[in-house]
Amino acid sequence: MNTQKTLVLLKPCTVQRALIGEIISRFEKKGLRVAGLKMMQLDDAILAEHYAHLVDRPFFPGLKESMMVTPVIALALEGVDAIEVVRQMAGPTNGRKALPGTIRGDYSMSGQQNIVHASDGPETAAAELARFFRPEEIFEWKSPLERSLYSDDGC
Ligand code: UDP
Ligand code: MG
Repeated sequence: MNTQKTLVLLKPCTVQRALIGEIISRFEKKGLRVAGLKMMQLDDAILAEHYAHLVDRPFFPGLKESMMVTPVIALALEGVDAIEVVRQMAGPTNGRKALPGTIRGDYSMSGQQNIVHASDGPETAAAELARFFRPEEIFEWKSPLERSLYSDDGC
């Protein structure tokens, strides 16, 4: 059973538009377990690290600024194949191209103000969870409803 944890950030656009509850609710309703959750103000240093693959892009300064406008909500979500499931739920980067039914497709008109960040693979998920959460901020609580979410073998 490929149980994974992944990092989601609810971006400042989401906080300002009062969509925090609605977006978290979509992940909960899907069946993902909230293993960690906190509000945090990002700064230059953490964003330079988080978006290291984009530092040379012309939109990087604007992206960084947009991520510091308000605090963000960091979520650690867990489930079978959670990394891919959450990426699929987020949809493609540009909200105008994302299909209805995806989070970006339903809530975003922008390639930058696109509601969520979601880890894109196992290595990035591990690095990003460690970047935003201390080990003791990730919890291993169990749901009595687990048998309603998965078959015995995790299918
Ligand atoms: N971004 C942007 N302009 C672009 C492409 C990306 O402002 O032309 C921002 C956008 O907020 C995106 C983030 O940079 O979510 C990270 O880009 P990435 O390519 O990793 O997309 P994601 O993994 O978020 O879909
Ligand atoms: Mg990315």
